[in-house]
Amino acid sequence: MNIIMFGPPGAGKGTQASRLESAIGAKQLSTGDMLRAELASGSEMAKTLKSIMDAGQLVPDDIMVTLIQYAMEKPECASGVILDGFPRTVPQAEALDRMLKASGKKIDHVLVLEVDNSILLSRIQKRAAESGNARSDDNEETLKKRLDVYEAQTAPILPYFEKQGLLRRIDGMAEIDAVTDQINTAIGKKKAA
Ligand code: AMP
Repeated sequence: MNIIMFGPPGAGKGTQASRLESAIGAKQLSTGDMLRAELASGSEMAKTLKSIMDAGQLVPDDIMVTLIQYAMEKPECASGVILDGFPRTVPQAEALDRMLKASGKKIDHVLVLEVDNSILLSRIQKRAAESGNARSDDNEETLKKRLDVYEAQTAPILPYFEKQGLLRRIDGMAEIDAVTDQINTAIGKKKAA
């Protein structure tokens, strides 16, 4: 099964994606984690990426598409993927479609975690406080920029998937376990109560 986790920064995509990973045996692919791993290398490319990410902007589509294509070709992705943080633009979504079609695969569900902007900031602040190694983009100023970028460049992908009948809207404001329950119901792993 191939799933896209969709939602603004702080919506809980990573947490739910990692729960789903063990539940359905698909591989979680977090483009944010992949990029952060690249930052640690200290390369010239890493410096450029860091400045883009710290500004809350998006890394160029061609880099992201190459990164995800390479990751998806790995054997551990053969039984399915949970994409966490990709696609983030319409060209990325189109590239993903082409990539999947070429290998006879398809997206099964696009899970949209809906959370009010007002609580995203407090979640991000909590994540920064709880993490021993805080992300340099988990601060108020960058979060505001990331939310603007989400509205302007990422949310416009939704109609693209809606037309294909793939959108499953999830109340991301609920408790973590309740969100997991909704997701399991949405993907047919569990009957609605
Ligand atoms: P995330 O951990 O998903 O919040 O991603 C952190 C940052 O990595 C984002 O704010 C972007 O700068 C960059 N990034 C992650 N995924 C993508 C993507 N699919 N396209 C462009 N930039 C991305």
